[in-house]
This record gives sequence, C-alpha cells and structure tokens, in this order.
Amino acid sequence: MKPTGESVAVDRVELQRQLLQAGRFFKLICGAGNEDAEEVYKLSLVYTLAGTASIDLSAKPDVVAAAKRAVEDAVHLGGTFGITEVLRPYLTVSVGMAGDPHVRKARILEEACTECNACIPVCPTEAIPSSLVIIESRCIGCGACAVACQDDAVAYAHKEIEMEGVLLDCLAAGAENIELHAAVRDHEPVLKEWELITRLLPKNFVSVCLDRRYLSNHELQVRIERMLERAPGRLIVQADGIPMSGGRDDYNTTLQAIATADIVAKTKLPVFILLSGGTNAKTGELAQACGVPFAGLSIGTFARHLVYEFINDPAFPRNGRLEAAVERARALVATCQP
Ligand code: SF4
Ligand code: SF4
Repeated sequence: MKPTGESVAVDRVELQRQLLQAGRFFKLICGAGNEDAEEVYKLSLVYTLAGTASIDLSAKPDVVAAAKRAVEDAVHLGGTFGITEVLRPYLTVSVGMAGDPHVRKARILEEACTECNACIPVCPTEAIPSSLVIIESRCIGCGACAVACQDDAVAYAHKEIEMEGVLLDCLAAGAENIELHAAVRDHEPVLKEWELITRLLPKNFVSVCLDRRYLSNHELQVRIERMLERAPGRLIVQADGIPMSGGRDDYNTTLQAIATADIVAKTKLPVFILLSGGTNAKTGELAQACGVPFAGLSIGTFARHLVYEFINDPAFPRNGRLEAAVERARALVATCQP
C-alpha cells in the first residue's frame, strides 16, 4: 500500500533520528545570511550528491525553493554518480535573535570610511565591491570587514522579519527543520521565539545554535534545559565554537567548536550535538581524539570554499566541474563517519 503523506513525514523524522544517533549527520551550512539563491542551488546540488544529511539555509522561501530544486536534480543525477539511492537532505531554515552574528548585515558608514579598501579582500563571500556598497544578499555577517577596518567604519543591522509568516512560507517551500540562532544574553526573548518555532513544528527536529560569548557554562545548561522542555526528544544543539571562523583546515581552528560541544555533552542532557563554528576536515577526528561525543558536523565557510573554485567556474556543471566538486565535497562529508 502506498504510504500516506503523514506516514512518509513520520518516516523522515525517524530516519533523521537514526542518522543523528549514528553520529553521521553532516550538515552543509549555506549561511543564515546567504540569500544568493543561485549559489545556494549549486552548493545544494554538489553536497546532496556528496551525501550531506542536511542543508542549512537563510529563512527565505526563494532560497529554500532553490535548495529543494537542487535536491530533486541531484536525485535524478544520482545514477550517473553511481548512487543507488540519493538521501534527500533535511532542509533547515535559520532564524536569529537580534544580536546574533549569523543574522546581521554589515553596512559601511560613508562618513567614517576613508576608502582604504582593506575590507574588500577579507570578505569571504565577495560581498564588498569596489563601490564599497555591500551586497546585502551576499553578506553573512561574519565580521571580517569590521576586524580589517582601522576606521571603525562598519556597522551592523539586524534584519527584522515577521517570523511566523516567513517560517510558514519556508515550510511550504520544503523546509523540515528550523534553527534558532540564540547567542544572546537573555533567556526570555529567546524562549518567546522558541515557543513560536516549536508550535510551528510540533513533531520534527528543531535546533538551537549557541556559543559561549555571553553564556557561562551554567547559563548554557539552563538555556538548553528550558528549550528542551518544549522539544523533548527532538532537540539538536549546534554547539558553536567561533562563528564563521572555519577558513583554515587545521586543528587549532576547530578547537573552540569542540570545547563548546564538550561543555554541552557534560550537561548529560538528552540532546543531539552538532559541532559548528570553526569546523573543517579535522573536526571529527579531533573530537574523537578528545572523547567528545557528537551527532554530526555542521560545516559552513570551509565547505563552501572547498568547492567555490568549481561552482564559480562559468562552465559549471559541465566540463567535469560538477564531478570535481562532488569528489571534493564527498571527502569532507566522509569525515563525519564514525
Ligand atoms: S566580511 Fe563578512 S560581515 Fe563583512 S560584508 Fe563580508 S560577509 Fe558581510
Ligand atoms: S576598511 Fe574601513 S575605511 Fe577601509 S574601505 Fe573598508 S570600511 Fe572603508
């Protein structure tokens, strides 16, 4: 008998649980602030063929639709890559509290800028053109431009969205999980948004991304406990080391991600931990060497940069560009296998 829509949905939740329990949950982070639907399509195509279990996206219905389209295209292409059954990744949309770096947008203050251009080459997404007017859809809020600026000429703005309407549109476009970026001091505003998210998604997995910038170990535990009350058995904690810092592939870069995960693991709370924030090809290996348990890896900056060379080639996906990108991405996804 053909399964009903409801039983298919339940099966997807169960499959996600199994992937998390097995420690095999690789998540490609396209970037909470990455609103470039064309880039998201290419990244999603490559990483779906590489075996990612999840794709993290900006909460914009057109971005979710682009990722969904890429997943379906990857399913059709699976045979040519020798894949008998392509795993359709869980599409996660990221929303954030004002103050969380993942959901801010940089802006150059004309009155302070001396036009030295030091910020242009450090931007990881090429969001700063020579006109110095930041391309908002490409800005992921990483802060590299502000660090490079000697003149204090970079400010940030939080994009206000009407959360409920946007999330409902994203779910309709194919999102299955929602992640709240909650690296802010106060618990109460976070819990208010969390109430909405868990109401909109009463059965599927929900995720919270936390770091230690404002929270002591104890406060980290308190926040997770309170969030767990609304999502028992289906809470993913994305333990963020240093947000968006995974440019290099060495152990040192990934240390803080493992340290944050270690603190969450030691609470012994029943949550699934994903390592993030400075993650790279060494993260899984180092976490295992340190005895830090994890359900998977969330990799953004490093994963994207790994394949930019191919997906930004005008010939992509032809002339072997797609195959080359998939091969490179596969090696990274494989670092998540226990
Ligand atoms: S460096 Fe980071 S914060 Fe600055 S414009 Fe580029 S992406 Fe945005
Ligand atoms: S680094 Fe600062 S002063 Fe220099 S161009 Fe960028 S924003 Fe302007």
